[in-house]
Amino acid sequence: MTAIDNMHRTHYTNQIELGLLGQRATVAGWIEDLRDIGKVVFLTVRDVRGVAQAVVSGQSINIIRDKPRQSAVIVSGLVQSSKSKDFSLEIKADAVVILNDAIHPLPIDPTGRVESALDKRIDSRALDLRNPKTASIFLLRSVILKNIRHTLSTNGFVEVNTPKIIGSASEGGANLFEFEYFKKPAYLAQSPQVYKEQLILALDRVFEIASYYRAEKSHTVRHLSEFLSVDIEAAFTNMNEVIDIAELVLMNIFSFNTSIPESEMNVSKPLSSMLPKPSLIPKPKFPLKRLSYEQCVEDLKKQGENIEIGDDLSDASLRVLGEMHQGFYFILDWPTKLKPFYIKEKENDPRLSHSFDLQYGHLELISGGQRQHDPNRLKERLIEQNLNPDNFKHHLRVFNWGMPPHSGWGLGFDRLIMALTNLDNIREAVLYPRDVDRLTP
Ligand code: ATP
Ligand code: MG
Repeated sequence: MTAIDNMHRTHYTNQIELGLLGQRATVAGWIEDLRDIGKVVFLTVRDVRGVAQAVVSGQSINIIRDKPRQSAVIVSGLVQSSKSKDFSLEIKADAVVILNDAIHPLPIDPTGRVESALDKRIDSRALDLRNPKTASIFLLRSVILKNIRHTLSTNGFVEVNTPKIIGSASEGGANLFEFEYFKKPAYLAQSPQVYKEQLILALDRVFEIASYYRAEKSHTVRHLSEFLSVDIEAAFTNMNEVIDIAELVLMNIFSFNTSIPESEMNVSKPLSSMLPKPSLIPKPKFPLKRLSYEQCVEDLKKQGENIEIGDDLSDASLRVLGEMHQGFYFILDWPTKLKPFYIKEKENDPRLSHSFDLQYGHLELISGGQRQHDPNRLKERLIEQNLNPDNFKHHLRVFNWGMPPHSGWGLGFDRLIMALTNLDNIREAVLYPRDVDRLTP
């Protein structure tokens, strides 16, 4: 029997509150600091929710006196008031057990007192997460994912799971990962596009939260080879209706403390209330700006950008736009030729399409639009884009089974976290990022 079998955590460190004065509490975590003043040792224990102080005296001193910082520890005792400047309460320890030593030197300092470069931190991510600043990003990710699921579920969306191993390139493009699958070529999915469109045929509204794969060879701070996407697709809707849903998703994120049902508060409240920096950016003004692509190009020309209607918005152009429109805004009605085959052209001007992006400054967060639901036109569009309709036969036949008009979007979740917490590198927002140079840990 190990020591932990006799001692059970009763409280997280942030639950050591006035109401516990004189009562027993047992906290578990990692040694952050040891201050040895002879007859007593002050021990600070950090767990995922904060830090608590314990005063150790008597026999127990020998157990911890020379223990390396960051070792795993469990401490039990009565809660008393504290004279120290950082804590108003402390645990007068009568039992201390070291559960496992931390072997020094550690690859990084998780207290953050000694800063490490991002690459080094990612190399030791599990330890890096003991730094509350790092942990807060991932606690926030968890809270926001839950919030998005809640918004979509309460608006009639069914959560689905579609394959990530696929037999043909779902959207074409050169950035697909190919591999051998039982002697046949296969690919890692770059999006759930074809599946989510097929599923609305019966399920009406679907969403999926999953990882997708793109062989992004460029080294940027916003592209990874593996990223998390929130995708929706909704039958009998036009573009503006799914833009409204994107706006609702954002709005609810900014009011997440009140929109999460009471029963979930126990978990989300302590997590969100303990978030140190980086915390959420201020709530934007809703409704968000909806600019047309053509207006953006005109504005860019006035700023001296070398751009014509029909051109894609280059990185440089997006940066200028980002200066002009800070925060979140939509760009609507992109040229059809810049958009994938499944996007519907405008009836009155087929050069433009029912498509939109959500931007945060210069950063693209969402692409979406109304889809082409006419099977003949869809086939023509595939050919126009040099894709082989034979590779899409399983998809095209679905459109002959009463495919309704429909719209949807894909939200890059890691980029959303970047935007919400003001990070300048997507790798800060992903636990174990994958890029051209990184396949471990
Ligand atoms: P970009 O132009 O920035 O490369 P995209 O237009 O190729 O993006 P979409 O196919 O529209 O990307 O994908 C929808 C969303 O998924 C994007 O708006 C973005 O938020 C996210 N996304 C796409 N590719 C990546 C990637 N390589 N890494 C992280 N997020 C991505
Ligand atoms: Mg896009």
